[in-house]
Amino acid sequence: MTQDLELQTRGYSPELRTKALVEALPYIQQFRGATVVVKFGGNAMVDPELSRTFASDIVLLRSVGLRPVVVHGGGPQIGDLLTKLGKESVFKDGLRVTDAETLDVARMVLVGKVGRDIVGQINIHGAYAVGMSGEDGGLIQAQVLDPELGFVGDIVSVNPGILERLLAEDLIPVISSIGADETGQAYNINADTVASAIAGALNAEKVIYLTDVPGLLSDVNDQTSIISGATVAEIDALRADGTIAGGMVPKTEACVAAVRAGAKSAHMLDGRRPHVLLLELFTDAGIGTKITLGEP
Ligand code: ADP
Ligand code: MG
Repeated sequence: MTQDLELQTRGYSPELRTKALVEALPYIQQFRGATVVVKFGGNAMVDPELSRTFASDIVLLRSVGLRPVVVHGGGPQIGDLLTKLGKESVFKDGLRVTDAETLDVARMVLVGKVGRDIVGQINIHGAYAVGMSGEDGGLIQAQVLDPELGFVGDIVSVNPGILERLLAEDLIPVISSIGADETGQAYNINADTVASAIAGALNAEKVIYLTDVPGLLSDVNDQTSIISGATVAEIDALRADGTIAGGMVPKTEACVAAVRAGAKSAHMLDGRRPHVLLLELFTDAGIGTKITLGEP
């Protein structure tokens, strides 16, 4: 048991602790061997305490036999460095407009800072995490998504070979959302899109998006208006009527793509809530938003 979990459970009786473990048993059995792709993003990633609990949760998943794969973004961190450099961030439909200089900053921040920090937090618990860019091992082949966005990549294909090899060794891949084309040109890719493509390529059981809202909201200004479940058709309707905007556009598109590619479900959870991953996977608490393919 990790130190912070121990601290949090100190007030509970041994009986209660045992009960919690026993209640997790059917879920542990159900998900044993399952690949779960987790996209780490939003405010959870910039809060040191939440980053620590996230890392220990990922290690716990691996320790009970799941195959976690982490994909991370870094929007706020990229924005911060750009501000320090005197460069303004411009977004179009939730995607960052990326000129050559912005691409360099994004790549440095994602691969050299954010990815390193996550790997470091996980590896406090053991030598498990291996960080990589989507450029490594030919993992993500990309092309220009929209010339107006500059070096923002659209995923052409995912070659999951390198991930299969790491997972076979019980390692935890931590992937920065950068891809490359056949000339070696790098692209900044929305991390939600990367998580979904990787979930598809690995035939993942679930893809889970940790974000800075409690889930998909029917009113973005009302944090209690959580839509607990939606089918692909319902998502289409919510996008058409403008309920879904900003960063939720690529996120919901990614959820839809993942379930279409064969993931059983895609989840949007509140990454600000400690141990939200464990709540979703090992309890019957219906939290956040669950997206499924729906009736054929
Ligand atoms: P992340 O770093 O998790 O990808 P984003 O900022 O890209 O976060 O996307 C999440 C943001 O999407 C929320 O903080 C919210 O401002 C915005 N958003 C727009 N429409 C909705 C909606 N219907 N429900 C929830 N969030 C929404
Ligand atoms: Mg986003």
